[in-house]
Formats: sequence, structure tokens, C-alpha cells
Amino acid sequence: MSLRLVIMGPQGSGKGTQAALLAERLGVVTISTGDIFRSHMAAGDELGTLAQSYTSRGELVPDEVTNAMVRQRLAEPDVAEGFILDGYPRNCTQVDELDDILASLGTRLDGVIELTADRGELLARMARRAAIEQREDDTEDAIARRLDIYAEQTAPLTASYAARGLLVTVEGTGEIAEVAERIATAVAGVRS
Ligand code: AMP
Repeated sequence: MSLRLVIMGPQGSGKGTQAALLAERLGVVTISTGDIFRSHMAAGDELGTLAQSYTSRGELVPDEVTNAMVRQRLAEPDVAEGFILDGYPRNCTQVDELDDILASLGTRLDGVIELTADRGELLARMARRAAIEQREDDTEDAIARRLDIYAEQTAPLTASYAARGLLVTVEGTGEIAEVAERIATAVAGVRS
């Protein structure tokens, strides 16, 4: 059975790692908007240059750019078997856009997984990642800005998904394998 899922959670909640593990378990692709932007930035193309001017400050890339990119990606053949979207949608406009894209493909979301973790834990994890990955947007200011944007714009989206009966919330604190098991259990509920 193909599953179309969104994984949400603040930066540092382990969502990228968990999305990859879950995708492997389910045999579906992960689509990370942050990763797509980073590959364009690495290539130094037009989209990359534009995205960089926002991501380096921890700001969101404008919706029209992000939405067009996601629409194009979701139309690719490997997505037909299902997907896990990581990092999208991040605001109300993107929620509506995602519904619209999926409707135009004749399908819809099966579930939204929200990973939770407290701010202290998130800041500690991101400081560790900053030391390892040296990402341009892992400066102290940009990290704080991204957590604020998540709290203001992205966290409220969970309420609308909850109202639609799509939301499952999973505690993201703990060992990677332990969290992965919690997510797998939650997804089994979505599938049944
Ligand atoms: P992430 O790896 O998901 O934390 O994304 C890194 C950066 O890419 C974000 O801070 C944004 O600047 C940009 N980005 C990723 N996804 C989106 C999105 N859905 N909407 C707007 N900007 C995004």
C-alpha cells in the first residue's frame, strides 16, 4: 500500500533522520525541500542563488518559488508509490497548495507525523550538528530565527491537520531507534 505522509517537527527534532528511516521501511521516497534547496545552492544555479539569500538568514524561501518546486517534484514518476514530505508544508498557504497539488494528481495525504522535542533539547542538538556539518544557516541567530518561525507559522498547521483527523504526534526525544519504533507504530495506525 502506498502512503503519502508529511513529517513535521522543529529543526533539530531529528525529522530528517527519521524521515529517511521511515522511507526505507515503507519503500517510498523522501522529499526534503531543504535538501532540494541545498542541492541547487551547491550547483550555484538561479534557484540556488535565490534560495541562499533567504536560507542563510533562516528565513523561508517565498511560497511561489517553493510551491512550484514541490509541484514539479510530486509529479515525478518515483512519487507514485508514495512519499514522505520533510520540510513542507511550512505555512497555511503551503498546506492549501499541497492539497491542490495532490488533488490535481488524483490523490491526497494519508497522514501527518509531528515530532516533538523541547526547545533546550533542540538547541543542544542543533549546536552539535552545526559543529559537524558547518551549514551556513546553523549560526546561533539563524537557528533561533528558524525555531521562532516554526513556532509561529508551522506548529499551528498541526491543528488544522488534527481537525482533519490526519495528525499523529510522536515524542522525538530519545535514541534514534527508539523514536523510529514509535513512528512505525504511529504509521501502522495511519495504515489501518
Ligand atoms: P530545512 O533543511 O528543512 O531546515 O530547510 C532549510 C531552509 O530551506 C529553511 O530554513 C528555508 O530557508 C528553506 N526551506 C525549506 N523548506 C521550505 C519551505 N517549505 N518553504 C520555504 N522555505 C523552505
